[in-house]
Amino acid sequence: MAEITIESISKSFSGVKAVDNVSLTIHDGEFMVLLGPSGCGKTTLLRLIAGFDLPDAGRISIGDRDVTVSPPGRRDIAMVFQSYALFPHLRVFDNVAFGLRMHHVAREEVTSRVREAAELMGIDAFLNRYPTQLSGGQRQRVAVARALVMRPSVILMDEPLSNLDALLRLQMRAELKHLLQDIKTTTVYVTHDQVEALSMGDRTAVMRDGAILQCASPMEVYDRPGDVFVATFIGNPPMNIVRGVARDSTVAVEGVEVRLPEASNFPAAAEVTVGIRAENIEVHSEPHHGALPATVAVIEPLGSHLLLTLAAGAETIKASVRTDFPVKRGDSVWLELREGSVRLLGAVTESARST
Ligand code: ATP
Repeated sequence: MAEITIESISKSFSGVKAVDNVSLTIHDGEFMVLLGPSGCGKTTLLRLIAGFDLPDAGRISIGDRDVTVSPPGRRDIAMVFQSYALFPHLRVFDNVAFGLRMHHVAREEVTSRVREAAELMGIDAFLNRYPTQLSGGQRQRVAVARALVMRPSVILMDEPLSNLDALLRLQMRAELKHLLQDIKTTTVYVTHDQVEALSMGDRTAVMRDGAILQCASPMEVYDRPGDVFVATFIGNPPMNIVRGVARDSTVAVEGVEVRLPEASNFPAAAEVTVGIRAENIEVHSEPHHGALPATVAVIEPLGSHLLLTLAAGAETIKASVRTDFPVKRGDSVWLELREGSVRLLGAVTESARST
């Protein structure tokens, strides 16, 4: 069992709370992504799990072992860094073998385990090369092979794909996911790339200011974000955020009543923040019952669809339509917010009300 249990962990650096009272359980064999903007504390949380930093408060267990203050070498973890951290003076074989030799593993076993990991990562043809003789993607594979060869209980990855160009990143994303699904090792993966987080993780923990705002499956954080920050951090374009007035199982946006998937807990007439994804807005060229009148401000052709920016009263809303949708700038259209996909994200605060 390599379940990771993080209980009320905090870590400050000169008064800055990098990780603030975080609790999280990462199940045995799970692929957990830590996602958030720069400086939100993802790397610090990963380093606390790894043992490179020690927490000011709280407890971390791996399996049934309390590792809160254990040195990294005693935690049965392997880490893949953004920089790959390969030894430039060692050939690929020796880079991959390094950890095994440090653990005094017998020579024949080192050879067979390095070859097995190299085959798995498709780098067996490069074992005699030096890291400088490899492409970025190949170096990245060596770094993963070096982690896998240790057969750790837990693999920690800190932005392992961020040094690759866009196309290679896409390819490696699928490869890594495939591989990690096969070996079923508990994995914690740090990224600020929301597409990577959604596509790779079993669950995604969205962080901000040292705290976890929401931890759920990719579809859940995309479709049912817990708050406005998650709604706008995840998805491209971000979720539309508009103001509404709640009334039991409907919400009025710009005076037009829209049915909610379920009755809300907000008091009648409460001002609320409403979230709706661009793809969940049906755009009509003619007036439509229950649809918001709007004017087309911007049309962006994005290959597979058109992204429209629309002015609906005081609100600016983005909606996507098929590329053959007849539309030009300045047209009047009617926006039907699809029932079942309208989300109430919270009450409008005093500060938001005054803006
Ligand atoms: P990035 O995506 O930019 O790497 P991150 O989400 O991983 O960001 P952290 O590196 O964990 O964020 O940093 C969280 C906060 O803690 C930041 O404000 C950072 O400046 C601060 N911090 C992290 N490490 C240290 C350190 N060793 N000394 C001082 N402050 C630190």
